[in-house]
Amino acid sequence: MKIESQGKEITMSFNDSLKCPGLDRTLTVIPVEQPCPQCGEIVEIWSDEMKRRCAGCGMVVHNPNPLFAIPDPTMNESNPSAHQSRLDELVALAISLGASTATIVDARDIRVEDGLANLCREARCPNYGLSPTCPPHVKGPEWLRQYLKQISVALVFEIEASQGRMYSDRRRETGQLLHFIAAQLESAAIEKGFLIASGFAGGSCKNLFCYEHTHCRVLSKNGTCRHPGFSRPSVSGYGVNMNHLLKISGLAKNKDDAPHPASSSYGIVLLQGEK
Ligand code: SF4
Repeated sequence: MKIESQGKEITMSFNDSLKCPGLDRTLTVIPVEQPCPQCGEIVEIWSDEMKRRCAGCGMVVHNPNPLFAIPDPTMNESNPSAHQSRLDELVALAISLGASTATIVDARDIRVEDGLANLCREARCPNYGLSPTCPPHVKGPEWLRQYLKQISVALVFEIEASQGRMYSDRRRETGQLLHFIAAQLESAAIEKGFLIASGFAGGSCKNLFCYEHTHCRVLSKNGTCRHPGFSRPSVSGYGVNMNHLLKISGLAKNKDDAPHPASSSYGIVLLQGEK
């Protein structure tokens, strides 16, 4: 490249030219393949991205080694009131979206039991094996135990519906709402700066969203999920002891004492750290 300097024409190689300070970083961005912890599909995440949603099952897959410095997950401890207010906002969001109750629990209070996850197979749930969000396709209890080591808190929410509704055709709407709330809370938490937000919900997405289709598109055609913004992994398939969690969180109640018999469904969003 020729430029004029002090009346003389000088030749300047590309390397001598002034560069935007961010150019090197941009040029070194590369795609990194990360297996989805939910369905095993390979997710391509660019090295300057924090996360990307799995095209197969819709789970948010995080980049363990992004180009930029990972914010310190303990940062929130230096500003506990800001952290608490973000959690409060998520609880309020859950309620505004249709949850009957929602609360925050310490992730160490989540008990994971192989025996509970095995019930999906042994009791032969009619949805067993029909989607990547149910056993035997989910990673299961051992994976969750390891995953929980990086999780600090969980948002547990409940949708309470009358037994009349739960034993009618409208039961499916309640399950759909449960998955929708889990998915929305996930996105909202990431937007608020949480590093990890993973939603789980009761019920099978095959039964809730793809009941008119013979097969799940992910499992049958190795294709993409029809409802990535809704479908979330099954709580049961990971062996989460919900009875214990409800007791600890104060959400457990004696339904027999209720004036109108009701049934409850639950969802969980695991959360860690903030930017
Ligand atoms: S395609 Fe349907 S059944 Fe398969 S993962 Fe998506 S919502 Fe679930």
